[in-house]
Amino acid sequence: MTIGRIISGQPLSDQEESFNQSLRPKLLSECIGQHNVREKLSIAIEAAKKRQEPLEHILFYGPPGLGKTTLANVVANEMEAKVRCTSGPALAKAGDIMGLLSNINTGDVLFIDEIHRLSTPVEEFIYPAMEDFKVDYTVDSGLHAKTINFPLKRFTLIGATTRAGLLSAPLRSRFGMMYHLDFYTVDDLTQIVARSAKMLNLQYEPGTLELIAACSRGTPRVANRLLKRVRDYAQVKGSGVLSTKIVESSLKMERIDKLGLDELDRAVLRALVDVYEGGPAGIEAIAATLGEERDTLEDVVEPYLLQIGFLRRTKRGREITQQACEHLGLKVQKKKPPDSEMELF
Ligand code: ADP
Repeated sequence: MTIGRIISGQPLSDQEESFNQSLRPKLLSECIGQHNVREKLSIAIEAAKKRQEPLEHILFYGPPGLGKTTLANVVANEMEAKVRCTSGPALAKAGDIMGLLSNINTGDVLFIDEIHRLSTPVEEFIYPAMEDFKVDYTVDSGLHAKTINFPLKRFTLIGATTRAGLLSAPLRSRFGMMYHLDFYTVDDLTQIVARSAKMLNLQYEPGTLELIAACSRGTPRVANRLLKRVRDYAQVKGSGVLSTKIVESSLKMERIDKLGLDELDRAVLRALVDVYEGGPAGIEAIAATLGEERDTLEDVVEPYLLQIGFLRRTKRGREITQQACEHLGLKVQKKKPPDSEMELF
């Protein structure tokens, strides 16, 4: 159900990934929004350059599609360094990362996406690499096994995660800088869509980009994806120019409402009302009710619903808010507790 979901923060295909890459800002000055993070990064980069030292290790965390990979590449560009990219699930054993580390040059960036999914042996293997720029690598096995102490060049590890909470304390403590990426404002997203529209040579009427931005749930990847959908729609159903009517019809066809909620968001909220009397309900239970992955709900659906005040997270589970009920025209009906006498039978 989630795979083709237009408002998912995750890239949907290789084709989309290359589309994303073409729109990715290359330098800090080209990035939009995240002012606080950009300012801190720019100071750290300037200071490291003045000292002619590699940057400290950096961790970017926040929901998918907010620009963690983009910033990792921007940092490498600003440091005029090479970047090597990998991801937590791709590094199953120490040997997988050894190849990357041994080829790395001074100042280069090693980017590990989904770093919370590193296996324990790999995680433990990279501790000395991050701290002392050396690794203990075991070759052969059994009687012939020997450990080689392998010195590494001073590099910068940039990790990205949607779940900083899942990172072990020893790994977290080895990052010199940790930046949380927030959802973008509609103004920022409008600028991002305007930049992409310019790069794609799109013509648009005033106010149309704001409409797309408002439905992008604070996420640049979603904004660019919606722009692409609207562009297709405008080319097939209109003259290619984005007009208010074209944008509205296209979003309606994608079943995205004015706040950027799609079928899955609405299904989560509806399940809370219909099945769990408004909650509290555990995320696992909601996922099972909808036949969805728990991770999808936690990574993509929940952060935005929490942000706009449609969901409350309590110790006992998730609850729907009055605001969400009003938006969807839902009414929570608490079932009466059973009569105590009836309970006897
Ligand atoms: P993440 O790694 O957090 O999932 P990405 O870095 O892949 O997110 O960003 C997704 C897309 O959003 C990129 O392709 C890029 O076009 C756009 N984007 C992200 N951050 C910005 C930004 N600050 N300014 C402009 N566009 C951005």
